Amino acid sequence: MALLEIHKFDDPVLRQKAKPVKRVGAAIRKTLKDMSEAMYEAKGIGLAAPQVGLDRAMIVVDVGEGLLELVNPKIVSSEGSATAAEGCLSLPGMWGEVPRAEKVKVEALDANGHRTWIEGEGMLARALQHEIDHLYGILFIDKATSITIEEDEDGEDGAEGEEPETAEGQGATPKAAGGETRKGPEGEGQCE
Ligand SMILES: [Zn+2]
Repeated sequence: MALLEIHKFDDPVLRQKAKPVKRVGAAIRKTLKDMSEAMYEAKGIGLAAPQVGLDRAMIVVDVGEGLLELVNPKIVSSEGSATAAEGCLSLPGMWGEVPRAEKVKVEALDANGHRTWIEGEGMLARALQHEIDHLYGILFIDKATSITIEEDEDGEDGAEGEEPETAEGQGATPKAAGGETRKGPEGEGQCE
């Protein structure tokens, strides 16, 4: 069985709004499973259905605390704010400092169609917000206060984990590649 393909960059499917799932049945469960497989294969910590070309409101998240498969997820409350670096499987080689709520509570249906509530903070809160944004056609670059693009033309070692310094266009400061620069929030984590 082929892996789901992850759509990238300016693929219009990434900008579509996902439609709510009406009924969670075998087909949805199968899709969630395929999505988590694609996420793990890509070494991601989250994936939203639009990233694999499906306009359905479904996400999978695993920040190392177990797999969450969420259908029609909605943020019902949020608290605090924190800024930290984020990337996206649909935007390989790009990183941004993104302000997010520090804690969120999400209401969703689980893979059996039962209503469930997830409370997350830190990395989990960030991943939930990032993936739910995908369902509205929102990418992290829309919210980032700074963006860094890793140049990888000659197959250079795009070593993961190091913070690349190359900005879009030579000599540009690593700002505003996402189109707009917002006023920096006073979050912690200006980790450069
Ligand atoms: Zn993403």
